[in-house]
Amino acid sequence: MLQQFANLKLFSLNSVIHQMFKIAWDPLYHHPLPENHRFPMEKYSLLPDQLVFEGTITPDQFFEPIPVTENEICLCHDASYWKKLLSLQLSPSEIRKTGFPLSHQLVQREITIAGGTLQASRFAMKHGVAMNIAGGTHHAFTDRGEGFCLLNDVAIAVSVLLKESLIQSALIVDLDVHQGNGTAQIFESDSRVFTFSMHGSKNYPLHKEVSDLDVELEDGTTDEQYLAILNNKLPQLIDFQNPDIIFFQSGVDVLKSDKLGRLGLTIQGCRERDQIVFTLAKQSGIPVVATMGGGYSERIADIIEAHANTFRIAASMWA
Ligand SMILES: [Zn+2]
Repeated sequence: MLQQFANLKLFSLNSVIHQMFKIAWDPLYHHPLPENHRFPMEKYSLLPDQLVFEGTITPDQFFEPIPVTENEICLCHDASYWKKLLSLQLSPSEIRKTGFPLSHQLVQREITIAGGTLQASRFAMKHGVAMNIAGGTHHAFTDRGEGFCLLNDVAIAVSVLLKESLIQSALIVDLDVHQGNGTAQIFESDSRVFTFSMHGSKNYPLHKEVSDLDVELEDGTTDEQYLAILNNKLPQLIDFQNPDIIFFQSGVDVLKSDKLGRLGLTIQGCRERDQIVFTLAKQSGIPVVATMGGGYSERIADIIEAHANTFRIAASMWA
């Protein structure tokens, strides 16, 4: 009897602790695309299902984001760009560059994802960590979108937190295989925000912007090489910047199996990458918000496994 009660107590305590680690998700994230579109949109429903199925998280950890407002968007995007996007008035070439057919539902998806990152950052400031099952749309610039990114969710969240004086500084750790070019441009003259991007030198975008720190990686970079660089750069950066919050873009297109990436990381290496970022943030007592970024491996199982690892590590460290 006593043992049963003890188990019950343990269970309820776990579920209370779990609820502290919040994850933004909305059914809109899984947006319908034309058949054979190259973007693996299904990951936005497979991943939350997998995380709940395996017991990494419980359904009560998800929150439905409130979409960001026009005022919030226009803190870092041009009002004219936002108006064109909202009224579906982008030119055919502007739409082609985004990689998605433009629709009201897509715009709703983008403002919901950005709301997820913004609210996740508020949760992270309370509980140490929070995540978004989407986001990291780092190819969105002040006045244009490209590469599956229309609005820059991290830039919007950082701009809102700065405006509300909830933070004085932020560090953006962008470990997607592609450079965070939009993010670098948006914050190029803002000394409160440090942009760090580690990416393939020969990958899209061909024309790179200038982040506060860019690390360009050669084709075929191995786990060992990659992790040595990250272990060398990130601790100093966190020490030196001592930011109020860290945004981690955890794209899994660094995998060797990725169709668009050119690096040679294994799933285990990618997992160790995530472990390094979360461990440093936690040890330094700095809140961390993780957004997913890209992932284009041939097998959807590899994409899900690598993204799931990011959530598994955070769940194990903050539970
Ligand atoms: Zn990418």
